[in-house]
Amino acid sequence: METKGVEVVFTKPCYGLITSLYNLERKHPITGKVQPHWGVDYGDDKDNTIMAAAQGVIRFIGRGHKSAGNFIIIKHSNGWETAYLHLASISVKVGQSVGQGQKIGVKGMTGGATGIHLHFEVSTSTWPGKYKNNVNPVLYIDDPNVRELQRNLNKLGYKLIEDGIYGEATIHAVKNFQSKNNLLADGVAGHLTVASIKKALPIHIGKEDPSMTEPNVNIVSPSHKEAWEWAKEEGYLNGERPKEPLTREQFATVLKRVHDKLSK
Ligand SMILES: [Zn+2]
Repeated sequence: METKGVEVVFTKPCYGLITSLYNLERKHPITGKVQPHWGVDYGDDKDNTIMAAAQGVIRFIGRGHKSAGNFIIIKHSNGWETAYLHLASISVKVGQSVGQGQKIGVKGMTGGATGIHLHFEVSTSTWPGKYKNNVNPVLYIDDPNVRELQRNLNKLGYKLIEDGIYGEATIHAVKNFQSKNNLLADGVAGHLTVASIKKALPIHIGKEDPSMTEPNVNIVSPSHKEAWEWAKEEGYLNGERPKEPLTREQFATVLKRVHDKLSK
């Protein structure tokens, strides 16, 4: 891959999880035919603002295209271009200069899309060319969601570099976790996989965990208050972590013990 001469640093163009990776052997979700996926998809999020991935000039705007829908092409100072497809709305004009992170539109599902998402492409020259100049966008983006994913996978024993880049090692770790947990092993950490990873994490009990603050006696039941006092006496809540972090199962056992004690 030719990456020489890159002075432009790209930032994530929207919020949300990756729902589909750059993949030259991907089966199209609508036609079922093998059709390369020349970009990365970011799914629907609470905030669907689309932002310029780097400073540049709006080179082209398309509206109502059969497959791309409403889309924007930005030309950057190193000659690379970024493409933002399926937009619900566009808030810039051709020829306008935009700064990195500046709002350019809103994520949507115009054109050939099965749901609200951003299809994002990076080309090392004029887009689309024959796509031969496209590169895998996620290799150029430090994604906060990917950093969190890598941090959580490392807590489960994986040894990933926490750089926010969804490279081969991260894909491999995600596939490994998915196949061990009866999930579709596609290497894409969607909502289900992310939730399963979080569920598998060991949890810590102590004052560092904001969810374990002193119960408010006005809103909790007497038994909740009593359980709290019991756990405190047992040394679980004295502000120090137990020698080993408790797993979710161990925590459930502690809760059951509290429950059994109170039921007697
Ligand atoms: Zn896509």
